[in-house]
Amino acid sequence: MTQHVAIIGLGLIGGSLSLALKRRPDVVITGFDRSYKAADEAYRRGIIDAVAPSAAAAAREADFVIFAVPVAAAVSLLREAPEWGMKESVIVTDTGSTKQPIMQAAAPLLEKGVTFIGGHPMAGSHKSGISAAIGHLFENAYYILTPPPGCSREELDKLETLLGVAQAKLAVLDAEEHDSMTAVVSHFPHIIASSLVNLLADEEERRPFIRRLAAGGFRDLTRIASADPVMWRDITMQNKDELTAQLDRWTAEMQRVRNLLQDSDPAAVEQFFDQAKQFRDQLPTVSRDTAQGALYMPFDLHIDVPDHPGVISEITRILAAHEISLTNIRIVETRTDVYGILVVSFRSANERDTAAHVLGRETDYSMQIL
Ligand code: NAP
Repeated sequence: MTQHVAIIGLGLIGGSLSLALKRRPDVVITGFDRSYKAADEAYRRGIIDAVAPSAAAAAREADFVIFAVPVAAAVSLLREAPEWGMKESVIVTDTGSTKQPIMQAAAPLLEKGVTFIGGHPMAGSHKSGISAAIGHLFENAYYILTPPPGCSREELDKLETLLGVAQAKLAVLDAEEHDSMTAVVSHFPHIIASSLVNLLADEEERRPFIRRLAAGGFRDLTRIASADPVMWRDITMQNKDELTAQLDRWTAEMQRVRNLLQDSDPAAVEQFFDQAKQFRDQLPTVSRDTAQGALYMPFDLHIDVPDHPGVISEITRILAAHEISLTNIRIVETRTDVYGILVVSFRSANERDTAAHVLGRETDYSMQIL
């Protein structure tokens, strides 16, 4: 039986989800985006099957409605949605990075008897918009579902079956738990990364050379600070209570570290680093099994190449000969805490691992996946 899916918001996430869902021959997708250009591109590229003139029109005949717009927009659309005359059997979901405001905004829909299940595919990119959409974006990434209390197993199964084609790791959490955990592993690190970069920018006014020293480990550590500021403004504002609590804990922790340094207590300082090392070393690695975790991770290969002319073209020639696309290539000038001078990024762990394999076979360079 044909499944009619409406996707409201045809950007990176809506477009990627649509591409994944279209692998199922029984799925027909109607899209709506407030940007005509995005909707037109989605239609022309075959990402959606039809363009609707409004969110309500897209949703009216749908079996599933997926909001893939920024969280603030999803909140206001969800408030209008009870008046859209959707099918009684429809299942509505979203993709927003924070869940509590969405679940609250969906309350009138639930009161009307409509099934709403929150969703958050935990995969992304530093790029946004329909042009960045790719069908394998969610493969092996966690995709959290936050059903409201009282949601039936049958409805949850229907949504899980639809989303199964995206090959994500589906997990069910309570919305509050989700927001609290993503604050720790994703939202709060974005604040810290941006704050570190802002400190660097301040410092650069006095000592311009510092920019060059920041090219290696610092740049990698703060990569997430390059994400879309508007999206992160919205996410952090929507999760501000959790983040304020995190900031208080962080401030207390920094005060503790400050005291350790001031007390000149080397054993305690070492314990601080050791405790973090022990815990971090046991974290599941995202790079080896293609999972993407909460933070966007490019799939990097560090290559220890000699500094002679033609080395980059040699690498790119071998990759091109094996039809392996790279997304970025850069030379790391500061090598105190990173391996290799050349860092090549790929779209997936699979492409990166194949690249490592062919480069390992055809060159003498040492390589490492961090
Ligand atoms: P995006 O690439 O910017 O796409 C969002 C699209 O929605 C844009 O085309 C935007 O149009 C459109 N839009 C905005 N308001 C709308 C409205 N009221 N009605 C219809 N269309 C509207 O954003 P995204 O990265 O796909 O993110 C979408 C959602 O997924 C967000 O809630 C985000 O929190 C969540 N998410 C993002 C990531 C990530 O890494 N990017 C990961 C997981 C979840 P304009 O361009 O005109 O604004």
